[in-house]
Amino acid sequence: MTKELSFATASDHQTSPAGTMTLMTAAGYSRADIHMHTNLGDGWASPAQVIKEARRRGLRLIAITDHDHLEGAWRVAELLAREQALGPDGDGQEAATPLELVIGVEVTTRDGHLLGLFVDKPPRAQRPAEEAIDEIKAQGGLVVVPHPFGRLVPSLSRARIEELLSKGYCIDALEMYNPSPANASQRHMVRLANQEWQLAEVGGSDAHFWQHIGVAYTLFPGQSAEELRQAILLRRATPGGQEVPTPRLPLGVYVAQCAWSWLVDPPRRAWRARRNHQNHRGVVVR
Ligand SMILES: [Zn+2]
Ligand SMILES: [Zn+2]
Repeated sequence: MTKELSFATASDHQTSPAGTMTLMTAAGYSRADIHMHTNLGDGWASPAQVIKEARRRGLRLIAITDHDHLEGAWRVAELLAREQALGPDGDGQEAATPLELVIGVEVTTRDGHLLGLFVDKPPRAQRPAEEAIDEIKAQGGLVVVPHPFGRLVPSLSRARIEELLSKGYCIDALEMYNPSPANASQRHMVRLANQEWQLAEVGGSDAHFWQHIGVAYTLFPGQSAEELRQAILLRRATPGGQEVPTPRLPLGVYVAQCAWSWLVDPPRRAWRARRNHQNHRGVVVR
């Protein structure tokens, strides 16, 4: 079964007087960007920038999926909760565009990255994919394979996905559309493989910069996080975003983010893992 984009085209783009970019979607459908990073991980967008840009893009739902921790996701959750209490300008007015958050994580497994959505605890990193799947499922989360077969970043191979499926491990969806270079070259192969696997297909921007938030998305019937979950489980979600080219940023920006990703983020992740381990043993760390 091949899923085609059927709800949004380039001509559907509109810009409101307030500068809010929207994509018209079929009545009753919403767009979710379920893969993005903040500057509490290896992204460059602050939690506040993420919220602002998600709204500007007309997204109804976002998942923050930093690598191996939930701090960026919790920070976005705090900001949204404060906004709901005070209004976006602190004036008690309700936010103009409702935006819902799914707490997510991109787990670094020994076999490649795995997205866990609807989680409240990050699975342990650098373990086999089976363990990450078990930990996500134990929390009632959804397992999504990001940038499948990707060669530029650690990604699950076709053979590894086949092995997991044959062992009965639940994979809820494949990220069929991810505009990063990690994914584009393999998309055709993934589509072919999924004709056999018949897994749900979703899209996510994998944005590390605010300019890329929403350039890929998952279209689903409904509006709420729970409706997104059901749409993925029932394979009624579709990947979207191909209709608009991804904004190109100056090369230096990518180089700097790459350096950040290699030099700054790993020590922070190691420190968090140590802190969580100590907390787990009852040691209070401030
Ligand atoms: Zn990844
Ligand atoms: Zn990612």
